[in-house]
Amino acid sequence: MLDADFFRRWMAVTAASVDREAERLTALDSPIGDADHGSNLQRGFRAVAAVLDKEAPDTPGAVLTLAGRQLISTVGGASGPLYGTLLRRTGKALGDAAEVSEEEFAQALRTGVDAVRQLGGAAPGDKTMIDALVPAVDALGESFDAAGAAAEEGAVGTTPLRARKGRASYLGERSIGHQDPGATSSALLIGALKEARGE
Ligand code: ADP
Ligand code: MG
Ligand code: MG
Repeated sequence: MLDADFFRRWMAVTAASVDREAERLTALDSPIGDADHGSNLQRGFRAVAAVLDKEAPDTPGAVLTLAGRQLISTVGGASGPLYGTLLRRTGKALGDAAEVSEEEFAQALRTGVDAVRQLGGAAPGDKTMIDALVPAVDALGESFDAAGAAAEEGAVGTTPLRARKGRASYLGERSIGHQDPGATSSALLIGALKEARGE
């Protein structure tokens, strides 16, 4: 079972890995964006880690809804409302249980990913975070390890795609040949699950 501590660790591990990879995320956002994805998420997840330390919410649902709200209020770019919605809607779907099973979490995350698809209008293959999140959710029923690998594969797989949503879509054909920054940060988020459980 997964408790509030696990979800707090998930957010803390994500914040640490976003810190570590911020330069790379910003570099990926340079040729097909406005070179701010690393700094956007660094600001957002640092604020998430800080508010979770301060308020210490005691259910999985409360941890994720607070984290999502914090991302929405601290990240100005497209990724803030999208990741904020992902976490808020996942948290909402978890309700107020003190612990949730991995299967319940997988179902809730699917609800969150669906909300991101609705908000941003992106489908798989549009070269966005959706290309990492959808395969991750599909593999989550198997294991955190499989979900992390699927997200990473999805992120790498955005390289040959042409962007159809977000800033990168303004480049049309010229977006081809670059890995999507948001899909790359989604792989960090999903990869952090494994570490949060101490695997
Ligand atoms: P901005 O583009 O506002 O500067 P960021 O650089 O922080 O925001 O985030 C860019 C990332 O957001 C993209 O790489 C992409 O993965 C994701 N993204 C942008 N628009 C959408 C959308 N409509 N649906 C899903 N993801 C999107
Ligand atoms: Mg950007
Ligand atoms: Mg921007």
